[in-house]
Amino acid sequence: MGLAESAREAAAALTLRGVRAIALTYVDNAGITRVKAVPPTRFDHAVTVGVGMSPVFDVFAFDDTITASKDSGGPDGDLRLKPALERLVRLAAQPGWAWAPVDRYEQDGTEHPGCSRTFLRHQVAALAERGYQARASFEVEWGVGRARPDNGFEPACTGPAYGMSSLVQLSDYSRDIVEALTGQGVVVEQLHPEYGRGQFEVSVAAADPVTAADLNVLVRQTIRAVGFRHQVATSFSPVVVAGEVGNGAHLHLSLWRNEQNLFCGGPGPSGLTGIGESFLAGVLAGLPAFVAVGAPSVASYLRMKPSQWAGVFACWGVENREAAMRFIPGSAGPPAANVELKCVDPSANPYLALGSVLALGTAAMDSGLTLPDPVSGDPVLRPDGAAVPRLPESMPEAVAALQANSVLRAAMGDRLLDAFLAVRQAELSAYGGLSPEQIAAASRWRY
Ligand code: GLU
Ligand code: MG
Repeated sequence: MGLAESAREAAAALTLRGVRAIALTYVDNAGITRVKAVPPTRFDHAVTVGVGMSPVFDVFAFDDTITASKDSGGPDGDLRLKPALERLVRLAAQPGWAWAPVDRYEQDGTEHPGCSRTFLRHQVAALAERGYQARASFEVEWGVGRARPDNGFEPACTGPAYGMSSLVQLSDYSRDIVEALTGQGVVVEQLHPEYGRGQFEVSVAAADPVTAADLNVLVRQTIRAVGFRHQVATSFSPVVVAGEVGNGAHLHLSLWRNEQNLFCGGPGPSGLTGIGESFLAGVLAGLPAFVAVGAPSVASYLRMKPSQWAGVFACWGVENREAAMRFIPGSAGPPAANVELKCVDPSANPYLALGSVLALGTAAMDSGLTLPDPVSGDPVLRPDGAAVPRLPESMPEAVAALQANSVLRAAMGDRLLDAFLAVRQAELSAYGGLSPEQIAAASRWRY
């Protein structure tokens, strides 16, 4: 069956199940999910020809102001959004709606060099060419509450961290999230009230990288939609309230070859294989540059504080939640071994974040690079803690590291990287001088 016919069949089946419109989304360089929608009757056209949308969104900031880079910006041009047919799903919390993520193409049919999903696909392909696969999952933390008349944040629950009383207060809401996600075929591993006021978290099963990034988008919009039905607002901002614990989007990753997990069963530290260790050593060395991608917003740096499990130290550690790279040996038998990159927050574009990690690891996997000694405990509390380097503590520092990183520039290409950097610059110019409270307020309901 051809692509158009498969798309028609899929759309017709959804129509029979009550779907009347399909949301087609991508995530831009500001970490914002942008959308165009089509009725099911136009889905085959979207899959084969694409839906038009300006490339100017490559240089949109999180507040919808528009900047420019050498090759992006201005009123000219158009792109085609082509949905991934295999990802089409009926949305449980938006009755009558379905969703699919898109890749963006130029009008002549070639790939748009600024497309972050395409960037991630290329990193996966580069890994596959060498015979390896990655599996990944993003944890999702968010704040649930209401906007106060004074523009403050009113949490929707008041229980203690991980407290059953928070779950009781939001019993219908949290059940509806699990039910909606499960109904969409998402494998929910766990849900809990987190440390922060009105903070929750959900974890979903690992998948191939492109699926994992798509799932992150789906999970977040599902949480938002369930919240809307329960008349509570959702914040995926890195900090909801300045000075309080933030929202992370911790990225779990493992590397595989021939069904073998290369993060276990080897002679290296904690059972890492040589390839696995070199891959992780490459990621670790690139973390200062990666932070510009994984924690890209002005609000990100309000979250990046020590002793809050936000992973602000440029080190790895076995089950150490203060290390930016937490190695998890895996309790469900060796194949579950993975690393958790904690220096990622939900203002990151998940496609760019995951693609960047894969690029850094892939570039190093044959290098024989080894990891330094793992760090245990909170470096702030260790007598020798000063020896453990901090990751960048400000956006300019992170951006400078990214600009100097040749692996990430080569992987992203000038068009994507320059647009990404232009957005950082625009956000920094507009918000960099504001107080933490002002930054938190400006960011709270944008992500
Ligand atoms: N909320 C913390 C963060 O900012 C993470 C807490 C945890 O380890 O789950 O990343
Ligand atoms: Mg958490």
